[in-house]
Amino acid sequence: MPQANAKLNAFPVFVRVEGETVAIVGGGEEALAKARLIGQSSAVLRIIAENAEPELLAFIAQFGASHVAAPYDASQLDGAVMVFAASGDETLDRQVAVDARRSGIPVNAVDRPELCDFFTPALVNRAPVAIAIGTEGAGPVLAQMLRGRIDQMLPPSLGSLATLAASLRGAAEKLLPKGNARRRFWNSFFQGAPAHAVEAGQLSRAHDAAVDLLLSNAPACGHVALVGAGPGAEDLLTLRAHRLLMEADVIVHDALVPEAIVAMGRRDAERLPVGKRKGCHTKSQAEINALLVELGRQGKRVVRLKSGDPLVFGRAGEEMAALRDAGIAYEVVPGVTAAFAAAADFELPLTLRGVSSSMVFTTGHDLKGNSLPDWAKLAISGATVAVYMGRSVAAEVAGRLIEAGLSPDTAVAVVENASLANRRRFHGTLADLPSLEARGDLSGPVMTIIGDAVAGANFERSEPLAAYRTASASVAAEGVQP
Ligand code: SAH
Repeated sequence: MPQANAKLNAFPVFVRVEGETVAIVGGGEEALAKARLIGQSSAVLRIIAENAEPELLAFIAQFGASHVAAPYDASQLDGAVMVFAASGDETLDRQVAVDARRSGIPVNAVDRPELCDFFTPALVNRAPVAIAIGTEGAGPVLAQMLRGRIDQMLPPSLGSLATLAASLRGAAEKLLPKGNARRRFWNSFFQGAPAHAVEAGQLSRAHDAAVDLLLSNAPACGHVALVGAGPGAEDLLTLRAHRLLMEADVIVHDALVPEAIVAMGRRDAERLPVGKRKGCHTKSQAEINALLVELGRQGKRVVRLKSGDPLVFGRAGEEMAALRDAGIAYEVVPGVTAAFAAAADFELPLTLRGVSSSMVFTTGHDLKGNSLPDWAKLAISGATVAVYMGRSVAAEVAGRLIEAGLSPDTAVAVVENASLANRRRFHGTLADLPSLEARGDLSGPVMTIIGDAVAGANFERSEPLAAYRTASASVAAEGVQP
């Protein structure tokens, strides 16, 4: 997404040039570079050069371009749809620009942006597919770098695939109703058997596969993907999650998933927030289950987007059971769970040779009963404990663990908004942990990690938990409410 106020000063368009004349004035390197660029299109090239260098002459011969070997004259531009002033001579280029403009022909003057009506992009050419990269002259090197990266990403056969698609467009429009069915056909076309066959160089097999796909016209069957969105940072989303988001008809997401990630979904996908943030349950779990089943029955491709990993405190079990009962196909896409993101933010080894060889994912909420859950015993025997949703029960967690025999000096790391730019890190001991509950300055999700392995973390960028207790105690002593 662009920054809100960032506007393009040059807007990219594709100009129809088939059979049209493009004039290039100049006989040297600059002219040759432009001739090679435009030579990738089916435009008719007119090179205006009294003295063309040998390489340019060779290009003219090879491409059958027309060559006007005479001193420059404005009438030589007649009938062109585009003009390049590429003589390398400032006075001449300026003259060409003035003449072109006078005749109403858009002009580009090499290395003189102030004389240009348009700019040429760095080009990734998979005709008929073209990717044009522009930087408004800010960074030709950047443009080339991006070009290289994009070029690598796209198979050389992309052009053939697009050509095959173009030949089937009319049939698809006749046979398939506009909307889901047609989009699904194209999705399968570009990602399924036809695409694979084109990539393998088997064009007639690709054509047959496409026709099969077109005629099978299978009724849309719904599909739900339970997708982990990761801890919040956009680039911690998996590639698979991203692909499914791009293919979704509907995205059903929790409140904890940042808007920026939901926005990475297909632009016209429907977006349904279902809340589930502490204190603001907009939909009950039963309602969410029913919604997923209903969308699946309607034949929609649904992405059920959950923070972190969908199988860790994500109530995915209930959603999968409902989908299974209703006979709706589903899949699960893992995500980076909050504990891992928090550990990474703290450079904290969750397992540490000789110190901790097991780990517990827990929520402090099961400590409220009378008996101590098993994980407390694991903590005492050295496991690293990650506490989800643990802020409001921090005192309970600390108190019960200490009571059960864990040393009050056991190291504790706390991360609010793990993986995000506004994350905050705190460190301390089990004895300091209860202070978390009283803090009014934490509004984001909080992950707490407890155990001896935590002592191996990097505390250079974290604040001591105890500092808050001291500060609030001294404020309270002065009779002011913290
Ligand atoms: N499925 C999620 C967990 C959902 S429960 C996962 O795998 O991460 C919600 C709890 O996850 C929050 O209360 C908090 O403890 C933790 N959490 C989620 N995102 C977090 C983040 N960016 N930073 C710290 N904790 C986070």
